[in-house]
Amino acid sequence: MAMNGLMMNSPLLITSIMQFAKKNYATAEIVSVTKDNPLHRYSYAEAFDRVGQLANALARLGVKQGDRIGTLAWNDHRHLEIYYATSCSSLICHTINPRLFENQIEYIINDAEDRWLFIDPLFVPLLEKLADKIPGVHGFIVMTDEAHMPETGLRNVYCYETLIASESEQFDWPALDENAASSLCYTSGTTSNPKGVMYSHRSTVLHSYAAALPDMFNVSINDTVLPVVPMFHVNAWGLPYSVPMVGAKLVLPGPKMGDGAAIGDLIAGEGVTLSAGVPTVWMALLSDLQKTGKRLPSLKRVIIGGAACPTSIMREFQQHGVMVNYAWGMTETSPLGTLNTLKPGMEKLSEEEQWKLRAKQGRPVFGIEMKIVDDDNHELPRDGKAFGSLKIRGPWVCADYFGHEGHSDTHDEDGWLCTGDVATIDPDGFMQITDRTKDVIKSGGEWISSIELENLAVAHPAVAEAAVIAAHHPKWSERPLLVVVKNAGQELTWEEMLSWYDGKIAKWWLPDDVVFVDELPHTATGKVKKVELRQQFKDYVLPTAE
Ligand code: AMP
Repeated sequence: MAMNGLMMNSPLLITSIMQFAKKNYATAEIVSVTKDNPLHRYSYAEAFDRVGQLANALARLGVKQGDRIGTLAWNDHRHLEIYYATSCSSLICHTINPRLFENQIEYIINDAEDRWLFIDPLFVPLLEKLADKIPGVHGFIVMTDEAHMPETGLRNVYCYETLIASESEQFDWPALDENAASSLCYTSGTTSNPKGVMYSHRSTVLHSYAAALPDMFNVSINDTVLPVVPMFHVNAWGLPYSVPMVGAKLVLPGPKMGDGAAIGDLIAGEGVTLSAGVPTVWMALLSDLQKTGKRLPSLKRVIIGGAACPTSIMREFQQHGVMVNYAWGMTETSPLGTLNTLKPGMEKLSEEEQWKLRAKQGRPVFGIEMKIVDDDNHELPRDGKAFGSLKIRGPWVCADYFGHEGHSDTHDEDGWLCTGDVATIDPDGFMQITDRTKDVIKSGGEWISSIELENLAVAHPAVAEAAVIAAHHPKWSERPLLVVVKNAGQELTWEEMLSWYDGKIAKWWLPDDVVFVDELPHTATGKVKKVELRQQFKDYVLPTAE
């Protein structure tokens, strides 16, 4: 038997992040926008005192170990307090995406068996509609103060500030096992019902360490961090943990998340150095900067991920002196999987070569193993050309889904998670997504990347948005069909669109047809709903089909 080390077996707990931050960074600031206060400001010490008060209040409400406590909320200080008060007192913080469709929210609350719901006052009308359909929920806590408490007929409803006001700041935090569940987030599920990913204290702490590394989010005590990625989607990429871990200043945008001008003002006003979010947020910010001529002198770096991002956005940021790093992840991966920073020597490549590299989703962080496989599960070469299904494993990757233990159809027998993404991996380890497994176009047995065709199409100045789907073809079985939304007031013909691809792709990748539409269907998280689009064009006859 191998000899054991003689080191302490301290469990990796979110509680330790809180206690460490409170002791060592008591004066660090948390600034947040809420509906009742345009700029709420307090210290870590005050925040974690209130976390103790909230944990006591929850205990008084009669919660039991392992109870799921739902949140429907924007990024603000109260949401942060709920994160810590629940997880550290052996409850599970279940963040729910309020932008989902009502029936999905209802399904998720019932599937998770949420006992209490914390809700932003903005979502009270939504919950009033759902209240009768979520009988397992004992009551609701509206995240505001008494003065801003809305009139509501919700059962068992409390005002957040009143609920915690008379509680003690001292709470006897339980000594949890590091594998204890800490939080729960459901995947978007475009084809099936959403599935719950249950994070643990251990997975969260390891992910926070990894995320803070210099070649990852690179978070330091000298930073001011603005997570524009919502706290209801994969724990805002873990920033509510990584930031207190290093003692940086945290800025939370509340309901202003999608408002480019407000985000720009927050960045300038609070001296934000690092921000993170999905591509759509940045389009809003950049277009506001263009309109107003404002600059963002404090901002050094932006992490963009969660969906494909045109390099034009990264280039525009660069003109503002902001470095953009592309990242990839999923709800199942906590979410950090890869992030793109160039390796030493690559700065000598031509600018265009560097952009080609920077358009890739990036290299994995230690802790994440990845590989690409063909339809027979044979590993494909890491040559940057072969593309196959992306599989991944590691200590912050989900091993199973909540309530479906042992029945996952996305894990293989060796425990790898099949991500549903199709990708290449180059000899330097850079991974590039070329498609979703469901969206890849299988033309005569060969795969065509819908994403590459879409990226090229949106690079055309007259194109606002584009989607490529597989259309039935009698000879090739599937051929690419390009669906385009034109920019308002711009002309673009069928021929012009197709000739745009000349010299940019292999001839056999050229879409067989272009259809111009007024808009594309989107999911609640802003991704193009390919399932619906395919349904719309399921009987479409290609001009090449004779
Ligand atoms: P979700 O679990 O809802 O966060 O979605 C995860 C999926 O989003 C991944 O499997 C990818 O398909 C997609 N995704 C995430 N990051 C990127 C990225 N940087 N580029 C392209 N797709 C991405």
